[in-house]
Amino acid sequence: ATPTAVMVGTGVGASQGVLIKGGQALENAHKVNCIVFDKTGTLTVGKPMVVNTRLLTNMLLQDFYILIAATEVNSEHPLAKAIVEYAKNFVEDKENPAWPEARDFISITGHGVKAVVQNREIIVGNKSLILDQNIAIPSDAEDILAKAEALAHTGILVSIDREVAGVLAISDPLKPGAREVITILRSMNIRSIVMTGDNWGTANSIAKEVGIETVIAEAKPEDKAEKVRDFQGSGYTVAMVGDGINDSPALVAADVGMAIGAGTDIAIEAADIVLMKNNLEDVITAIDLSRKTFSRIR
Ligand code: ADP
Ligand code: MG
Repeated sequence: ATPTAVMVGTGVGASQGVLIKGGQALENAHKVNCIVFDKTGTLTVGKPMVVNTRLLTNMLLQDFYILIAATEVNSEHPLAKAIVEYAKNFVEDKENPAWPEARDFISITGHGVKAVVQNREIIVGNKSLILDQNIAIPSDAEDILAKAEALAHTGILVSIDREVAGVLAISDPLKPGAREVITILRSMNIRSIVMTGDNWGTANSIAKEVGIETVIAEAKPEDKAEKVRDFQGSGYTVAMVGDGINDSPALVAADVGMAIGAGTDIAIEAADIVLMKNNLEDVITAIDLSRKTFSRIR
């Protein structure tokens, strides 16, 4: 392609809300034959909501939620925000909820949070966090978790004073049109993969809903980058699509990093292409544009 064609291609992209940072990015996109999608906020809407609560103790739901909100209010995680939002249903002043004080708050990245509230040790997070803390998971909690995950919900365990006291199910539905995008990509001979820090059960259920066969779950940010390099090593030209800080190493590692415009600044900076309209269809727009510019319509 001539420099003029590249300029035109980049310009057409910009006019459609597909920001291509330079000619190399536009060129690489036409060779892509494998796309790794982050789950939360990329394939899904990214606005998780608590949809179910199962208490395993005889405490009041209100008291239970106030303890976990006091812990999660210290976390920036979207799941934490969903939990705090839901807990507001149990307080009088929803605008200014006065959560009790939390001491010794710690956040365990990719796992959950822990703090002491009203002299009780509260742990909120995934199964591996609870197991790492040497807390036993009763079989009814396991059953509830499995059911939540089969519905593509994220199951969160709550431990109070080292006993599992409840299980929350949090739902973050697929973006409309996500399934169609995957189908079209397949017709373009592009393989799609879902990659997430979330658990295997939930990841498999979402993958099934969207029509993706290859799943990578429980991946830390560095694992995500390593997986991208693995696919490159087996001969693929890889695009990574993500929105989070935890996706940025993988966005950098990929041949083409694509960030969702509504994503975090760090992801947008790490990416080669920014999808300003937050539409997954624009993954196709970008590749089409590149194929046309480099006249390799396959
Ligand atoms: P993702 O790739 O889906 O954004 P993360 O790596 O951020 O996932 O988190 C992985 C998992 O760790 C979450 O699905 C959740 O089970 C658990 N987790 C992380 N942060 C929190 C939190 N603040 N409260 C409860 N659970 C959490
Ligand atoms: Mg995400």
